Amino acid sequence: MSEDCIFCKIVAGEIPCKKIYEGNDILAFHDIHPVAPVHFMIIPKEHIASLADAHVRHEELLGRILLLAPILAKEQGLDDGFRTIINTGRGGGQEVFHLHVHVIGGNGPRPM
Ligand code: AMP
Ligand code: ZN
Repeated sequence: MSEDCIFCKIVAGEIPCKKIYEGNDILAFHDIHPVAPVHFMIIPKEHIASLADAHVRHEELLGRILLLAPILAKEQGLDDGFRTIINTGRGGGQEVFHLHVHVIGGNGPRPM
């Protein structure tokens, strides 16, 4: 756990979240500022600051996070597909430095 990390505090239950999934080492919850009708994120419980800070030992965990995306997306009603976004580093627009995969949908198709 990283002391001043907001997502670590969510994992620890110190800050509330609208949880949609919890496993031993993965948590998923709704984004507090959704940009679409469905917008949630999937995070490892372990504090990994960004994708650039992930290591080979995280390979299996990262794989399970990605495989969870379509399952949770479907549970949230996204039958027609969804976007996945991982912002990495300041230059990548990352604001919360605890690795997370955004899952976004319900706005219809969009370019890019
Ligand atoms: P980024 O680091 O740019 O990929 O995005 C961070 C995301 O975390 C933003 O979409 C925020 O709305 C979201 N966020 C920040 N604080 C919370 C929180 N307490 N609960 C849920 N989502 C949050
Ligand atoms: Zn953290």
